[in-house]
Amino acid sequence: MTNEAAGGCGAKRPRSTMSHTSDPLRIGLSLATAVLASAVPAPASPQEAAADTAVADDTASEIRLVILGTGTPNADPDRSGPAVAVVAGGRAYLVDAGPGIVRRAAAASTRHGIEALAPSGLNRLFLTHLHSDHTVGLPDVIFSPWVLERPDPILVFGPPGTATMVEHIQEAWKEDVHMRLFGLEPHDYNRDAYRSPVTETTGGPVYEDENVRVTAIPVMHGSWPHSLGYRFDAPGRDGAPARTIVISGDARPSESLVEACDGCDILVHEVYSAETFKGRPPEWQRYHADSHTSTVELVDIATRARPALLVLYHQLYWGATDEDLLREIREAGYTGRVVSAADLDVY
Ligand SMILES: [Zn+2]
Ligand SMILES: [Zn+2]
Repeated sequence: MTNEAAGGCGAKRPRSTMSHTSDPLRIGLSLATAVLASAVPAPASPQEAAADTAVADDTASEIRLVILGTGTPNADPDRSGPAVAVVAGGRAYLVDAGPGIVRRAAAASTRHGIEALAPSGLNRLFLTHLHSDHTVGLPDVIFSPWVLERPDPILVFGPPGTATMVEHIQEAWKEDVHMRLFGLEPHDYNRDAYRSPVTETTGGPVYEDENVRVTAIPVMHGSWPHSLGYRFDAPGRDGAPARTIVISGDARPSESLVEACDGCDILVHEVYSAETFKGRPPEWQRYHADSHTSTVELVDIATRARPALLVLYHQLYWGATDEDLLREIREAGYTGRVVSAADLDVY
C-alpha cells in the first residue's frame, strides 16, 4: 500500500491498550490478541492464547511462520514495515522487505533461537508487490547481511518490475560495493554475496528446494497489474507434519487466495477495520475498497478458505484496536481460530 494509512486522514492509530505495545519485542506471541472466535466470545486468557503459538526451534523441520513486521506506511515504532518469514528446515524464506526487516529478523533470531533469521542466513526473498512500504528494506536485506558475513547472494523473487528495481539498487550502492570489495574489508570468502539475482513471476510455481515448494498467487490490489500472494508447502519430513502457509500480501478480496488456502494450516491475511473505514474521506474509501480487505470481507474469504488458523497482519486500524478487529470478525460470523499478529509473533 502507499499512503493509505497516513494520507489525508489524520487518523493515526492510537496506542493500543494491549500489553504487548509497552514492550513490542517481548516474547508475547499475541497473548492479548489471540481468540477462539465465536466459540469463545471474549478474548482468550493468556494461557489459552499461548497454546495457539509455539516458540520456534531451528532444529525442527516443521514449517513455521515468524511475523517480522505488521506495519503500514505509518511510522509506528511498535510495528516494523511489512515482512514475514517462513522458516523450514533451518532456512528462512522472507516475504516482503519493509523497513526494519534485517533488525527485526535479528531480533527474532535472538529471542526465539531461530538461527536461520540471523543476518548471515537471509538469502531467500519473495516480494508480493513493489509498493514502497513493502520494498524500502530491499537494499537493507541485499547489502547488510553481505557485510555481516552472509556467504551467498540473496535470491529475489517478485512480480514484473522487480529486476529493474534491484538493478537500480545495485547501481545506487555501487560505490559502497567497490569500497568494500577493494578496501581493507575481508570479503574473500563472499565476494559475490552482495549480488541479488531476480526471478520474476506473474503467478504459479516459482521456487522449490528440499524444505519448501513456493507458489505465487495473483491477487487484486488497486491498480497494480501484478500483485502476488504466496503459498508455502512444506512436505513434512523427519517426523514433522506437512504444513501449508498462505500469505495474502496486499489484496482486496481475491478468490485466488480462497483457492490457494483451501483448508491450509495458516492463512496470513491483510485487513482493515470495517467500522472505522466509515469515517474515512470518500476518496480514501474508494482507494481502500479497491486495494484492501475489510474485516467483514475477510470473514467471507476465510470462511470459504477454511484455514486452521487465520492470522491478521498489515492491519489498518484508523483508531480501532486489535480487540476491535477481532470483535468485528466474530460479529461478522467467523467461527474459526483467529489472531491479530504483533511483530515477532511465531506461529
Ligand atoms: Zn500495497
Ligand atoms: Zn501495503
